[in-house]
Amino acid sequence: MTEKETGKPPQETCRTLDDNLQPAAYSLNDKLHEECGVFGVFCTNPETDAASLVYYGLLSLQHRGQESAGIAAVQSRIIECRKGMGLVGEVFTPELLSQIRGAAAVGHVRYSTFGTSSIENAQPFVSRFKLGSIAVAHNGTLTNADVVRELLEDAGIGFTSSSDSEVIVNLIAKNYKKGLEKALTDTIKFIKGSYALAVLTGDALVGARDPNGIRPLCLGKLENGWILASESCAIDSVGGEFIRDIEPGEVIIINKEQVLSFTFSEKTRRAVCAFEYVYFARPDSVIDGVDVYEARIRAGEILARESAAAADLVIGVPDSGIPAAIGYGRAAGTPFGLGIVKSKYVGRTFISPNQAVREKAVSVKHNVIHSEVRGKRVVLIDDSIVRGTTSRRLVSILRKAGAKEVHIRVCSPPVRFPCYFGIDTPHRKDLISNGNSVDELCASLGADSLAFISVEGLLESLSFGAAGEGENPRGCYCLGCFTGEYPIPVAGEAR
Ligand code: SF4
Repeated sequence: MTEKETGKPPQETCRTLDDNLQPAAYSLNDKLHEECGVFGVFCTNPETDAASLVYYGLLSLQHRGQESAGIAAVQSRIIECRKGMGLVGEVFTPELLSQIRGAAAVGHVRYSTFGTSSIENAQPFVSRFKLGSIAVAHNGTLTNADVVRELLEDAGIGFTSSSDSEVIVNLIAKNYKKGLEKALTDTIKFIKGSYALAVLTGDALVGARDPNGIRPLCLGKLENGWILASESCAIDSVGGEFIRDIEPGEVIIINKEQVLSFTFSEKTRRAVCAFEYVYFARPDSVIDGVDVYEARIRAGEILARESAAAADLVIGVPDSGIPAAIGYGRAAGTPFGLGIVKSKYVGRTFISPNQAVREKAVSVKHNVIHSEVRGKRVVLIDDSIVRGTTSRRLVSILRKAGAKEVHIRVCSPPVRFPCYFGIDTPHRKDLISNGNSVDELCASLGADSLAFISVEGLLESLSFGAAGEGENPRGCYCLGCFTGEYPIPVAGEAR
């Protein structure tokens, strides 16, 4: 029944789970952190339980954010939203899921980069206004959020959170009287930075990707509907068929009648985050035509070509170092072994703020198979080195287990610069590659040798996808945290 038929304005409710709040959590490893994952479903069969499909989609995107989870669904144009702090499986009990009905829904998992880690900043954000309701799930970071926020506040629009994503929902709501399509284009033209959006309205699911396509977003098909997801692995998880990636600068509107696509920006220049392939994405995903697993294998092969070490064994730091170690082993002719085991039951966060305790806790997460490494010259492959804490500890426990030599090879170039597009980066002074030469770094980690893949090598590992024929692959990826050259101008070094 429509708003007109009921004579009532549409409503939305947004219940939060205060009792689910967790203590402040600290990183157990020293990787860069991905920010968010989004997932949306639109089904033509009104009996479909879209929230349950979104629940499974979010479980598959859990690696993209572990601090909060939320789902919003629409029924009879009324949007209901439930969200809470914690993992998807912790937040959504069967009872809670049963409270959000409807054949269309969007969901979000979050790791905070902009705004604090609190329930107010959990997504999706829902806005209720005279003409309807919308729910927005956003992955990325707006570089002009402060300016837009101030303009909206001056216009009398209130905010309930410190998240930049609420700026998007309020802008769409403000422009909604112009119609959905115009409201979206006006909003999107106004905001700057990185965004992959899944937006739910009373009768449509909308996806949008920023003009550089920095964060991934793809389209999938169900028997009686459509999916939008941050990664293709989430489409697989609900039995959907991957159709294609949303293009940089593209908006896609899915409703009962059609799937409408249009480009909102004439100036698009693809610059997908290279770190998605190195570490953030799951290896069973394909992003912009590049198979993540294959890219990691190739990175290992290129590392072997660029800087092979004489060794008896190559091992990878689980999980994302493993495919590269396989590739390295094949190319260098060095036997691949497991060597390091990662506990599946220790999360990515740790509740002690104490650095000394955190450093010790590395062996809680990773331990060595002594019989595999004893007496051997070992090549240790890692996806990246950020603070160096984990690498230092791994070298130490490998030596303690009897490794004769430890040679570190890294499948990303040194991380020297911050990210402004949705990835949590330590302060520049805490990036161990900033200000240290490779030799100094090697000595600091206690390794026998250390080498990083070159920027050209990384681009070569990705050169089978986003770079179309004749395109310069350097222009197809964001490499900002390696080179300091960003696809979008950033205002100084804010960190
Ligand atoms: S600076 Fe670019 S490559 Fe580095 S994490 Fe951010 S988006 Fe990814």
